[in-house]
Amino acid sequence: MKTFILIIVFLKCGSLNAQVQWAPNQSQKVPEVIDCSIGDIAVARAQPYPHIRFCPQAAAEINSMFPGAGHFYYVHEYGHILVSPSEVAADQFAATQLAQLPGSYYYINAMVSHLYYRAQNGEGPHPGYGTPLERANRILAAAISANPNLAINSSTGLLYEK
Ligand SMILES: [Zn+2]
Repeated sequence: MKTFILIIVFLKCGSLNAQVQWAPNQSQKVPEVIDCSIGDIAVARAQPYPHIRFCPQAAAEINSMFPGAGHFYYVHEYGHILVSPSEVAADQFAATQLAQLPGSYYYINAMVSHLYYRAQNGEGPHPGYGTPLERANRILAAAISANPNLAINSSTGLLYEK
């Protein structure tokens, strides 16, 4: 029995690839509905009841370029559900939550890489977000203030564990 449990733990750790994914607790969880008509990776809706609509194909697409970025979007949507409709607050929620889970700054780095890429492609500001670079800097600042063991590598602009 002990061996059996150890094997399960081993397999689970292997599949997690050393990063812990954020998950809502029982009191935070809302229905998550698959919907690719949203034209986005995920959106949070307050009506007719609080829920999240997400598109697995859109998430797979972003993950194929920036592995793990889709998970940041998922946590961001929960930020809307649990904290505020504000994009800044939802990003802050996602960065703060992920910065505090073991190894999960991985997902923040994926999102920040995605934002650097968008900035390099000349993407301008969006209402509620500012420019991709402003958004990346806010996310990094929130991560660092949530976990003092994280720092920014000055040559890559990505987080690492001190
Ligand atoms: Zn949002």
